[in-house]
Amino acid sequence: MRRLPIFFVLDVSESMVGEPLSQMEEGIEKIVSTLRQDPHSLETVSIGLIAFAGKAKAITPLIDLVSFYPPKMPIGGGTSLGIALDVLMKEIDTQVVKTTLEARGDWQPLVFLITDGKPTDQPQASVARWQKEYADQVSMVAITLGKNADMQVLKQLTDDVLTLESSTEEDFRKFIEWVSASVKAQSQQIEVEGQSSGVSLAKVSEGGLTLVKNTEQYSNSDPDYVILTGKCSKTKKPYLMKYAKIQTAGMDQFIKQERFGLEGAYALDNTYFEWSSEQFTPESVNTSVLDGAPPCPSCGNTIAFAICECGHILCMDGSGFVECPWCDKPLQFDMNGKGGDFNVNRGQG
Ligand SMILES: [Zn+2]
Ligand SMILES: [Zn+2]
Repeated sequence: MRRLPIFFVLDVSESMVGEPLSQMEEGIEKIVSTLRQDPHSLETVSIGLIAFAGKAKAITPLIDLVSFYPPKMPIGGGTSLGIALDVLMKEIDTQVVKTTLEARGDWQPLVFLITDGKPTDQPQASVARWQKEYADQVSMVAITLGKNADMQVLKQLTDDVLTLESSTEEDFRKFIEWVSASVKAQSQQIEVEGQSSGVSLAKVSEGGLTLVKNTEQYSNSDPDYVILTGKCSKTKKPYLMKYAKIQTAGMDQFIKQERFGLEGAYALDNTYFEWSSEQFTPESVNTSVLDGAPPCPSCGNTIAFAICECGHILCMDGSGFVECPWCDKPLQFDMNGKGGDFNVNRGQG
């Protein structure tokens, strides 16, 4: 049986923490359950999932729809697009059956690459290898969540770069329906016409998507989020604090400085470090542009935003004594002192 291999290459960098990641997890489940109800897809479609942050891994090898079990997505620091492409190319080489003189292999694979940020690695060598050896034989659609992705580098991978600008639940649902419909259409075409021609972009607008034609207009967008990584002093586990850019309008247009409001704090487990890049020089952000300070999402300590001399963020209760979970130094915080603003290191995005 010739399979139709579908690869999802999913960005699980820090900025995806919270709502976007759970939407993505639910989205994959929805795609699989929709395709299972379609006899054509059930017969041909196999799905593989690759997640990437600072590191990239195949979290589900190419598997048929019936056996597919939706995995829990990790979170990590960094957006290593080059490493993600390397993993994708390896998966295509090892999992997709090639057509030989003796036997017909799998159908042309389809790749949905979904990302929300700019690469933090140097992807050029991998991009060049993709162009030279894979681009003609694999059809790829790159989808950006928001405008902060590097459209130029994605355009080098495929002409089909789409952007989902809205992040409402409704629009994400439409987008997921569009992906399911595209895969269904492919498996039908295979059955009826005996060929696969890649995803049709005719109905992208129904999925709430915009085809990116001119990459220039996106080139200067700054990140919408400030993400800070802390470690809980009780559980020793990492957590993220996510601050979203506050849209200033009307009278505020005269205030030049950007501000970021707390969107949430999220407890993670130690797999976070396995998915993060090791080499990373953080940019710093001044706390004066951040609004809101959460309690520790890991242990409930009242202050998640204490900072050690080692430069790292940790949680503490009001008592003032704590051991830094990053460097093990005992710390005493003066709770009566004036809490002035200071610089903290941003995450990798
Ligand atoms: Zn804590
Ligand atoms: Zn420390």
